[in-house]
Amino acid sequence: MKLDVLERMVLDKILPQIGSYKLLKEIQILKSQLNFSKEEREQLNFKGIYKCKSCGITNIDLIQNQIEKWNEDIEEKPEEKEANKILNEIMNFKSCPECHVEMQFTGQIVWQKVKTEGGELKALEKDITIKPQLKILISKILDGLDKKGNLTEDQTSLFKKFIGFEKKN
Ligand SMILES: [Zn+2]
Repeated sequence: MKLDVLERMVLDKILPQIGSYKLLKEIQILKSQLNFSKEEREQLNFKGIYKCKSCGITNIDLIQNQIEKWNEDIEEKPEEKEANKILNEIMNFKSCPECHVEMQFTGQIVWQKVKTEGGELKALEKDITIKPQLKILISKILDGLDKKGNLTEDQTSLFKKFIGFEKKN
């Protein structure tokens, strides 16, 4: 089953932590496939989203503002390499440039899309082998979350892959 970065993270989080020895062994094997290799980490360049405790601006907003500024003032726009450096610095701001208040981690993570050979940006996908018994178990977990109305937005694409769109319509 092909899973993207978010789906791998979400699946890793919903897997049971208790069960029979056999089940836990199978989960361990699955988790080792869900983990990100050093190469993938380098490629994806994971970054946390930080938010100012005072004005509520996030490092993503700051980057958006900077890009908008560059788009308005074409003459000031730096070369791609320099622009990436500036954006990277903004991403790592520890305090808000307006309020000079500490930025706090929101718990959310962003990552870079990967350039394909054709040059288009694409979310990284990995083919994950999931045993049929585990597939049933995961479907049950997701179905249970859905029935209780506890499904989160991040879980919806995984839900669609495991339970299928047809069933919901
Ligand atoms: Zn602020």
